[in-house]
Amino acid sequence: MSKREDETENNRDPFDPSPQVPSEIPTGFDRRKFIMRSAVVGAAAVMNGCGRSETEKVAPPPAAAAPPAPAGGAPAVPLAADLNVVKKGEGIVLTTVDEFYKVGPGPSSSHTIGPMRITYDFYQKATKLPADQLAKATKLQVNLFGSLSATGKGHGTERAALAGLVGKEPATVDPKFLDGLRDKPDQVFPVKLGEKSVDVSLKDVIYDATKGDFKHPNTMTVKLLAGNDVLLEQEYYSVGGGFIEWKGYTPPKKNTPKYPFRTMKELRDHADTNKTTIAKIMLANEMSIAGRSEAEVYAFVDKIINAMVATVKSGLSMPEDDVLPGPIKLHSKAATVYKRAMDDKYQADRGIGSLSAFAIAASEENGRGHLVITAPTGGSAGVMPALVYGLLEVRKVDRQKVRDGMLAAAAVGYLCKHHATLSAAEGGCQAEIGVASSMAAALTATAFDAESRVVENAAESALEHHLGMTCDPVAGYVQVPCIERCAFGAVKAWTAYAIASNEIASRHRIDFDATVTALAQTAKDMNSKYKETSEAGLAQSVVLC
Ligand code: SF4
Repeated sequence: MSKREDETENNRDPFDPSPQVPSEIPTGFDRRKFIMRSAVVGAAAVMNGCGRSETEKVAPPPAAAAPPAPAGGAPAVPLAADLNVVKKGEGIVLTTVDEFYKVGPGPSSSHTIGPMRITYDFYQKATKLPADQLAKATKLQVNLFGSLSATGKGHGTERAALAGLVGKEPATVDPKFLDGLRDKPDQVFPVKLGEKSVDVSLKDVIYDATKGDFKHPNTMTVKLLAGNDVLLEQEYYSVGGGFIEWKGYTPPKKNTPKYPFRTMKELRDHADTNKTTIAKIMLANEMSIAGRSEAEVYAFVDKIINAMVATVKSGLSMPEDDVLPGPIKLHSKAATVYKRAMDDKYQADRGIGSLSAFAIAASEENGRGHLVITAPTGGSAGVMPALVYGLLEVRKVDRQKVRDGMLAAAAVGYLCKHHATLSAAEGGCQAEIGVASSMAAALTATAFDAESRVVENAAESALEHHLGMTCDPVAGYVQVPCIERCAFGAVKAWTAYAIASNEIASRHRIDFDATVTALAQTAKDMNSKYKETSEAGLAQSVVLC
């Protein structure tokens, strides 16, 4: 008897490469399928340390797997072709920084900042109605649909919507006002409409149908009523990143950009042809589109940088035993992670740990409903601030380079919005953390004076490695997985920059535009249960007690 024949299943060397497939193929079996199946089962046995029984070795292959079930759960919501966010994908990029980077209350640009902007917009429109109509007003009512209804409670959408109705703006609202609505939900507020005053409370914000034939998954209506008669009604869409549209929306007219571009390739060509950087092309475009001076553009960017630094500082200063609002009872950990990371004996570990802590700090601020900056969204609001804080406060990079980085990052965000989506309700978490990480990679590369190709490669790499990431916030709260996910997005941004700046740039095989196309396609194909509905993934598998 040979040595091999003497071996039992349990004492076989797991690294023995000999095929564990019987030499005889049972009669009637397809040889290729049989060998494949046996090889797979054998590999699994090696990895698990489990052998197969004699019966298993000769068992017929399983019946062909049933075709996958149709995308289950909530039906996919196809976006209406007349939404501006869909149409503008074909034209040149005209977004400006003040539209893109928005300060507002967390935890979600689409579920808090967008709805608050919407109800504030409606409030403004309502005040312009003729006095005789306003005199009849008795009630204001908000109805939330689709994802806004499915996960709005966890996001505090009703509080944000009410705040807008009573005339609060996202950028200036005191987070304590929103906290007050959470702590005392029965409060009633008079809303002045001309000579008339209409009382509103959280009861006037209705969580309506989660499924239906909506133009956008984040749809809401706002009405001003006189008894049962409608004085004014508007259907709105919170289309991601705090951007809003409404039925019949036409985008504001803008000036032609100095360097028109539709794609990263066109943007980079402008930079290379003019022997300048992506950031400088973006600056010239900001000035031409919005008619602003260089100083005005940078003043706005500085405001955003300062807000990002402030949110990280505020998050790090929170006590370690602070518990975030909501049923998860998640303890704040930014300060703990930071302190322990700084005690690490290895410098590289200190770097990764502290960068993670900065991202967690800003993201926890978002979870608290405090003011954050959409870059591109509230859920991803820890990623860019982590890099901005790390570059400015730790690496002491020159502020001008960080300003330039913010403009290059904005270009990345614009292109993702233009050709794909920034909305988790449309594209899952790849559209939030994935885009944020890609922006942060472009920021970092620019801040370190990388050439335009390296900036593109870093952004591409960070986005590529988030493709397919789903959105499944536990209990509908932007905390798990969101807070740690911001840390991973920040670290991946750094990794993307590290790879892009160390590889030979021209050999990078995937261009940014191709990856944005993949983002759009993946968003389209993604099962709608994984698009901010809390119907699947962690939201289902985690049981809160
Ligand atoms: S899982 Fe991602 S996309 Fe979804 S809410 Fe959290 S951060 Fe946003």
